[in-house]
Amino acid sequence: MKLKTPIVIAIDGTSASGKSTNAKLVAKALGFVYVDTGAMYRTLAWYCLQKKVNVDDEKAVAAVCKKWKTSLECVNHQVHLLVDGRYPDREIRTAETSAAVSHVAAVPKVREWMKKKQRECIQFGNLVMEGRDIGTNVFPETDFKFYLDALLTERSKRREAEGVQENLAARDQRDSQRAAAPLMVALGAKVINNSGMTSAETSKIIIEEVHKRLAECR
Ligand code: C5P
Repeated sequence: MKLKTPIVIAIDGTSASGKSTNAKLVAKALGFVYVDTGAMYRTLAWYCLQKKVNVDDEKAVAAVCKKWKTSLECVNHQVHLLVDGRYPDREIRTAETSAAVSHVAAVPKVREWMKKKQRECIQFGNLVMEGRDIGTNVFPETDFKFYLDALLTERSKRREAEGVQENLAARDQRDSQRAAAPLMVALGAKVINNSGMTSAETSKIIIEEVHKRLAECR
């Protein structure tokens, strides 16, 4: 195995499977830059809602994605997609945006646009990138792929603890069944079911596996 640089650690998985928490822990431990690709899709969903664009109208959503004014910025080792010069941090976490996001994420033109932007993130250095299709579609060439999952009951409890009520099963189903880059386990990914595990335990498994694979590259 030959090491490709910058290194990209791809962490995919179901909703509320601990991707964000663990990706941040892994990025911090290794000194890598953290990229939350879900936030990018959420930003588009929020923007469509703001502009009163029907998120089920594929053409209209694709047109928004073609025209909106965005840029990437890396602050404190985290990449953000800015729209009209700002990162709508809080707005993209509302129940309304969560319900809309998997609709815009199913649009092929949107996925094309996102893939390009997400690949541009290597300008910031070694990455820990979390999402649904990072290992399968955005960086299929990486040797560092992980897939997180946990029991639906546990994932729902985690979201409730964050004060968010939503139908995770419906979102997972839409993400897994769409035609364009559906959520699935990438070839060569290490699958971690972290039901009953702490994030310290999960991130330790990921970091150990990264070190093991890095050693294989040397
Ligand atoms: O990870 P998060 O829950 O914030 O992702 C929000 C939504 O964005 C997902 O349910 C999915 O529809 C979409 N998404 C995606 N591909 C990614 C990341 C997120 O389709 N790589």
